[in-house]
Amino acid sequence: MKRTRLSVCRRKARFVSERDALTVAQAGRVPLRAYRCDRCLHFHLTSRTKGKRLLQSRLLLPVDV
Ligand SMILES: [Zn+2]
Repeated sequence: MKRTRLSVCRRKARFVSERDALTVAQAGRVPLRAYRCDRCLHFHLTSRTKGKRLLQSRLLLPVDV
């Protein structure tokens, strides 16, 4: 995994443990996953689905549904 940018690190919420991060992640409507940041060594949340898969399934739908 590539290094977390410092700007991203500073902007994001920090969690002491992965468990804490996942608790917050589950409260949200968007699927999120926790990862350990190599800048602050805490955990941040990131969105798991980045467009591609969603876009593909949309293109596969018939036009007139
Ligand atoms: Zn960080």
